[in-house]
Amino acid sequence: MTDRRLMPADWQHASPFGMAPSSPYTFMRVPATRDLTCADVAVIGLPLDIGAIHRPGARFGPLAIRNASMHLLPHGLEENLLLPPFDKLRVIDYGDIETYAGYIEPSLKKFEEALTPVFEGGVTPICLGGDHSVSLAVLRAAARKHGPLSLVHFDSHPDIWPVNPDRPCDHSTNFSIAAQEGLIDPFASVQVGIRGSLSATIFYLGLDQTAGFHMITAEQLASQGCQATIEAIHFIATKPVYVSLDIDSVDPAFAPGTGTPEVAGLTSREIVELVRGLRGLPFIGFDLVEVSPPYDSSEITALLAANLVYEFLMLLAARGQDSA
Ligand code: MN
Ligand code: MN
Repeated sequence: MTDRRLMPADWQHASPFGMAPSSPYTFMRVPATRDLTCADVAVIGLPLDIGAIHRPGARFGPLAIRNASMHLLPHGLEENLLLPPFDKLRVIDYGDIETYAGYIEPSLKKFEEALTPVFEGGVTPICLGGDHSVSLAVLRAAARKHGPLSLVHFDSHPDIWPVNPDRPCDHSTNFSIAAQEGLIDPFASVQVGIRGSLSATIFYLGLDQTAGFHMITAEQLASQGCQATIEAIHFIATKPVYVSLDIDSVDPAFAPGTGTPEVAGLTSREIVELVRGLRGLPFIGFDLVEVSPPYDSSEITALLAANLVYEFLMLLAARGQDSA
């Protein structure tokens, strides 16, 4: 059987703001297809924001991240490749999964059903949120194949509020539910960048202790630095790794376009360094959530998000090289 390979549009022959007439705006202009047999990685939009407690708008995140990705060209010179990561990795844009407007549980179910064949097919998804509740749907599909998982979670909030049985799912309970359902192993999981008044309440109530996740607060990160943090992540994340990156882990000076910003956060430089430092972990999936374009300024949040998705792709391209 031939190696079925669809390459992105030629960057030399198409302007960044429009490829061939009527072509879809995909992530970095990779091919738009749902044929999983020609993919190692699928970029998938999960445009749901009714799990947001405060300010919505993240339903427009996938669109904004794809648009911002038009700025990006393949790079990563140390790999000595022509089109990194695309000459190592077959990347497709799977499009967005439909939602049931106004109904969170049926929408999460729909996402889970859509993600199941992706994991079954051995394809690694990179999901674009959406608010953070979408991670629960991805984890349900992921854990069926690979679980229980190590969660590597960048966020200003730990998202571990106790579940209210009357309305269990929102973007503050996603990882409580994931732990309860056994999708993730809290003791092999780590949350990085935690800060702010909402998180302080979690600490005050002792919920962080009962949840069991390793936490590296934004303050600890600032004092110990990125390298020590990267080493800690590698030490803790011993199971198949799911990376969930809430863009509000980054300071609102760099990422204002989000629903629940918290001051005194990571710089864009730090989040890029931390993500690059994940290289070598056994990744099974990624998401990047909570980009809310209505609150963005000059598209800087979407641009950072697009760059971080590119860094995810580079991590996957390096997979295999590190296992010698
Ligand atoms: Mn979150
Ligand atoms: Mn958050």
